Amino acid sequence: MFKLICNNCRKELPLDFRGFLCPCGGLLGIEMEKVFQPDRIIGQDLSLFRYGNFLPLTGEERVSLGEGMTPLIPYHADGKEEVLLKLESLSPTGSFKDRGAAVLITRAKELGIGQVVEDSSGNAGSAIAAYSARAGISARIFVPEGTSEGKLSLIKKFGAELTITPGGRDEAAKAALIEAKKTYYASHYYNPYFFQGTKTFAYELWEQLNPLPAAVIIPLGNGTLYLGAYIGFSELLSAGLIERMPELFSVQSAVCAPLYKKLKGEIPESNDSRRLAQGIMIENPVRLPEIVEALNRSGGEVVVVSNYEIEKAQRELFSKGIAAEPTAAVPLAGYFLLNKMGLLPRGRIVIPITGSGLKGGGYA
Ligand SMILES: [Zn+2]
Repeated sequence: MFKLICNNCRKELPLDFRGFLCPCGGLLGIEMEKVFQPDRIIGQDLSLFRYGNFLPLTGEERVSLGEGMTPLIPYHADGKEEVLLKLESLSPTGSFKDRGAAVLITRAKELGIGQVVEDSSGNAGSAIAAYSARAGISARIFVPEGTSEGKLSLIKKFGAELTITPGGRDEAAKAALIEAKKTYYASHYYNPYFFQGTKTFAYELWEQLNPLPAAVIIPLGNGTLYLGAYIGFSELLSAGLIERMPELFSVQSAVCAPLYKKLKGEIPESNDSRRLAQGIMIENPVRLPEIVEALNRSGGEVVVVSNYEIEKAQRELFSKGIAAEPTAAVPLAGYFLLNKMGLLPRGRIVIPITGSGLKGGGYA
């Protein structure tokens, strides 16, 4: 079993609680009582529900589209350099967000929820739309204007009600918050079940790589993958399966870098203000204090990269046969920078390719 706990007042909420905040206003977290045990992995299940025994689910039904177990390939074809790419881009809707959506929507189904709302720059919206379609749940998705056509079209084809809000990402979030007063909020950053899906990224690495990499480099907006990975590695640590967790590095865009600003002060100046890496254009990540704690505890660092560096990294990935959207090229750009700065530990480095470059060009 598991506990639904308020991160602020530490109160335990009933498991069938449908709100996304504690009555005190605090963000919610989940504490698992079942510790990760290798012999309790459901080996014949090749989706992330192979970890079903360590997920906060009470029923038997699974809303799955075959997500998880994404490939890990060497960055260089000769495999000599110890950099590995984890191709989250090969997920059912083309991003790691499918991990969170699979667990969140499975849980929503268990709770008997018939309608959800979400706001997104595109990938989380596509994932929630797809898993809702699979579950027979109706979904309303708010996206900011300027969202790539490929993502808009995908959300609509999955049958979700799509609302394009004027203004930036924050405006879409505000519109969703109003709707969330009456509809279950399937948020990829408020809803704690989402992070229980993204934590499986860490479990998988543990199964795929032994020993675990020295570092993982993750693009950071709302911290959906960053915090998920941190939760997963923390559980492996408390299960005694690893001695230390990989250093978790986060990379932000110089155009929008609230974590960097909080920890380092001034953001390096850039004359290119295009909101290219749209997936991480988050001015006010609601879980920023948790992200800071995870970064400090894992021994990681935060760096910022420019649009020029992101585009260069994206071209570099395409030149190696890998289709990544701009946001998904951010960690490779970060890797080049961290390497130059001498901040990376010795040993293997894992870089997730968080979103596919197949959903259409432009900002994404
Ligand atoms: Zn509370």
